Amino acid sequence: MKIVSFDDYRIGVLNDDGVVDVTDVVSEVPDKLKWARMLVFIEEWDSLRSKVEAAAKDGTSKPLSSVKLMAPVPSPRKVYAAPANYKDHQEEMANATFIPHDTASLASAEEYGMFLKASSAVTGPEDMVMRPYKDRLIHHESELVMVIGKRGSAIPLGEAMNYVFGYTCGLDITVRGGEDRSKRKSFDTFAPTGPYIVTADEIEDPGKLEINLWVNEDLKQHAFTSNLIVDCPNMIANMSWVATMEPGDLLFTGTPSGVGEILPGDLVTINISDVGEMAVRVGERS
Ligand code: MN
Repeated sequence: MKIVSFDDYRIGVLNDDGVVDVTDVVSEVPDKLKWARMLVFIEEWDSLRSKVEAAAKDGTSKPLSSVKLMAPVPSPRKVYAAPANYKDHQEEMANATFIPHDTASLASAEEYGMFLKASSAVTGPEDMVMRPYKDRLIHHESELVMVIGKRGSAIPLGEAMNYVFGYTCGLDITVRGGEDRSKRKSFDTFAPTGPYIVTADEIEDPGKLEINLWVNEDLKQHAFTSNLIVDCPNMIANMSWVATMEPGDLLFTGTPSGVGEILPGDLVTINISDVGEMAVRVGERS
């Protein structure tokens, strides 16, 4: 199933004709807390699933052009991310002249573990990436994103994939430079995600997906998740050992080689096989 957030934090199921609104199947959420509705939906998924399927089957589809898609999880509690999780990207960064080569910036996800992006950086498929600087190098990073489905700490490796609600496309937008990762990757609009969550049952193996990223017409990144240094279950086990995972948390799994600059006016398109495709436009702060 393909799940979207749209308009004013409404929840929908995507089909060939558009979006079926299934917001009413979720437990009532006070209007003031509507931003958290998707977190409740994911937390209640096991008991909601059959109702959502029935509502999606019987409901009327609105054409996609009549709604505004939001980030599928508009307000996650946390955004985990893996540093240098593809060997070819680690090598390209080691050879790059635009960053200071301290130990931490070169360590792979195996050694360096994880970092957090501000959850306020999350935006959706119809939002723009806004460059905060005119004179700094700002890069695209194409990444498979896992959406966590259940609360868990120190999740055993063998159970890790049971904690995944689904998958979506993500861009880990990054300012290059010497500051801490959490600053360089946390600017508003630096975590575009979407356009929908494909539920975990539809992805046989997240370690066998193909990722492509284009800037305008040029293919810049092409890779397979089989080349992840730390694979999906190990990331969940390792990161949940540090910080309890909660429904709706996002986990950016790292980028392959081919990262490069994005400039105002560029259209950045990420495609992940079986997961989806998202294209976002780049702008700049005035
Ligand atoms: Mn990244």
